[in-house]
Amino acid sequence: MKKEKLVIVGSGPAGYTAAIYAARANLNPLIFAGTLPGGLLTQTTHVENFPGFPEGVTGFDLVQNMQQQAERFGTRLEYDEVIEFKLTDGGVQTLVLSSGETIEAEALILATGASPRYLGIPSEERLKNKGVSACATCDGAFYKDVPVVVLGGGDSAMEEALFLTRFASKVYVIHRRDQLRASRIMTERAKTNPKIEFVWSSTVEEIIGERKVSGIRIKNNKTGEISTVECSAVFVALGHVPNTEKFRQFIDTDASGYVILKENSAKTKLKGVFAAGDCADPSYRQAISAAGMGCRAAIDAERYLEE
Ligand code: NDP
Repeated sequence: MKKEKLVIVGSGPAGYTAAIYAARANLNPLIFAGTLPGGLLTQTTHVENFPGFPEGVTGFDLVQNMQQQAERFGTRLEYDEVIEFKLTDGGVQTLVLSSGETIEAEALILATGASPRYLGIPSEERLKNKGVSACATCDGAFYKDVPVVVLGGGDSAMEEALFLTRFASKVYVIHRRDQLRASRIMTERAKTNPKIEFVWSSTVEEIIGERKVSGIRIKNNKTGEISTVECSAVFVALGHVPNTEKFRQFIDTDASGYVILKENSAKTKLKGVFAAGDCADPSYRQAISAAGMGCRAAIDAERYLEE
C-alpha cells in the first residue's frame, strides 16, 4: 500500500495546474493521467482563447507544456487509471488502480473531466469506429473527398465541422433546433464556409450502414418528414457528460452528475477531497476556467494539509 500526501486524478488543464501549484508548495503531488492523458484538449485543434498565446497554440502542445511545467517542480506522473474510490470525511482517501495497487492519500483532487455525449441509439453503438466518431481531429483525415455529417449545434460542432472541411467534399451539420448554441464567432465562420450545409430542426432516427457508415436517416421535427443524408462518417458533437460515476456515491453532484462545490471554493462536502475542471463545471467548461479551478483546488488542499 502506497501512502501519499496529495493525489490528483486527471491530467487535463485542471489536473496539471493543481499539480504545478501543489508541487511548488512542496506537497510532492502524484498525478494519475487516466484513460486519456492530457484530457480533451489533446483532441482539439487550435486553441485561440488561452491567454498568453497571441498566435494560438495546439491543444496538444498546450497540455504538453503544462505537463513539463508540473514535472519541472517535481510532480510525479503515472499512466494508470483509478478504478475505485473509497472516500472519507477528513480521513484517508483510498484509491484502487487498474494495476491492482492501492494508494492512500491524505488529500485528493478530482480533475477527471468529461467525456463526449452520444445519442445512445443502437446503430450509433454498432458503427462506432466504423464511421461514427466523437473526434474529428483523430479521424477526420480518413474521409477525404466524401460527404460527412456533424451532429450538434454548439461550439464543438462548429469546430469539428470547420476542421472537417479540410478533407471532406461536404459537411452537413444536423441540429435538433433552428438556432445554434455556438458562440457568434464560431457560428459566423461555419455559416460562411461554402462546404458546410446546415440541416435544421432534425433529429436522428438511425445511422445507416452494415460494416461502415453510408448515411443517416433524420426526421424533421417540425414537419415530421423523414429523409436520408448520404455520408461516409458521422461526427458526434453533442456536448459532454462529467466523469464522476466512480465517486458520485461519496459526494454531492447535480442532476447531470457534475460535482457540487462549496461556495467560492474547490471543496466537496468531504474534508480533504477537492474537485476542479470540467467534472465540477456545468457552465463554463473552458481550458482556462479549468486551469483556474485547478489552482483553487491546490491552494485549498494546501490549506487543508497545513491544518
Ligand atoms: P454544448 O453543450 O454547448 O452543445 C451541445 C450541442 O449538442 C447543443 O447544440 C445541443 O442541442 C446538442 N445536443 C445535446 N444532446 C443532444 C441530443 N441528445 N440530440 C441532439 N442534439 C443534442 O457542448 P459543446 O461541446 O459544443 O461545448 C461545451 C463548452 O465548450 C461550451 O462552453 C463551448 O463554448 C466550449 N467550447 C468552446 C470552443 C471554442 O471556443 N473554440 C470549442 C469547443 C467547445 P441544443 O442546442 O438544442 O441544446
